[in-house]
Amino acid sequence: MSSTGATIDFRSVRKTYGKFVALESFSMHVKRGEFMTLLGASGSGKTTALNALAGFTEIDSGEILIDGVPITRLPTEKRDIGMVFQSYSLFPHRNVIRNISFPLEMRGVPRAEARRRSEKALQMVRLDALANRMPHELSGGQKQRVAFARAVVFEPRVLLMDEPLGALDLKLRETLQLEIKDYQRQIGCTVIYVTHDQGEALTLSDRLAVMDKGQVLQIGPPEELYDKPQSRFVAEFVGANNILKVEGAEPGSVMLEGLGRVSGHVAHLIAASFASIRPELIQIRREASGAHRATLAEAVFFGNSVRYVLRAADGKEISAIEPRRPGQDVLPLGTPISFDLDVADLVALKG
Ligand code: ADP
Ligand code: MG
Repeated sequence: MSSTGATIDFRSVRKTYGKFVALESFSMHVKRGEFMTLLGASGSGKTTALNALAGFTEIDSGEILIDGVPITRLPTEKRDIGMVFQSYSLFPHRNVIRNISFPLEMRGVPRAEARRRSEKALQMVRLDALANRMPHELSGGQKQRVAFARAVVFEPRVLLMDEPLGALDLKLRETLQLEIKDYQRQIGCTVIYVTHDQGEALTLSDRLAVMDKGQVLQIGPPEELYDKPQSRFVAEFVGANNILKVEGAEPGSVMLEGLGRVSGHVAHLIAASFASIRPELIQIRREASGAHRATLAEAVFFGNSVRYVLRAADGKEISAIEPRRPGQDVLPLGTPISFDLDVADLVALKG
């Protein structure tokens, strides 16, 4: 199975439900064959954006284009889009292979060819042995693999997935994340994937768009969103982070919550309201030799690492993650310690 994938453009899309604005100035370009993720909390407008693209919901204004062609007035079935939802949404009275062949039957593909193509899709998701099972005889993971096969069997140029792994347990979710990525590479279609799980978004995406209140706050590759969040919201939503208020600034130094006066390469922080720093970039010193004094307020053992909460001199709690070697003890709470960080690792944030 293969597909060339299409480009997708949302241009200033607005969607309201009565007085409630679900999408506002929603703009996004998705490249051909790209895996794009919409990441946002529940209610941020992710499903509304997918529904607008698929044609399940009408937009108030703006335009949506597939391969440069406006589709807002095109009926759903003409948009050449495959969809996978969180609920498995398989037809309960059709067996696995007839679930998968359904989109082909709808498109008038001859029976023998529909059968052949459905079997190929079933092979891709490695469920060949279950072709004659009914949906209620499948596990959650198997149902979602069937739903995926059905969504791609007609080789759509665009595949939309709305929290497809949301109902599965963690281990299975991680397995299926890798599978989905692998299938998409094989097929080549353009994907828009929706999740509220930042870990999933970082794992799967070529790029991700962080959404809040119907708008895109920041869009970029996972590394860029992780390393260079622009706002406090993105810094806190993507990965664990420390957010420190900038309490004052003068040329050559800034006053930061938790750190006190910091000097050196601080030019990027002068105009910021907040600075962020990742827990793994804080180095704990077991003596008083570090630049910043603190006490240990909390220690959580993760096996390969320990997450410490440090209480700084001003009372601010700072989280630090320390990789751990076998036999290394977890520091007892209350231990006076100190810590260091590289000023260049402090990221300037807008409010
Ligand atoms: P998400 O998928 O990010 O959780 P949705 O796109 O489903 O968010 O919803 C965005 C907002 O729009 C929510 O606050 C939701 O309550 C509202 N909403 C969605 N669909 C409707 C509808 N049919 N009528 C009224 N409000 C809706
Ligand atoms: Mg949703």
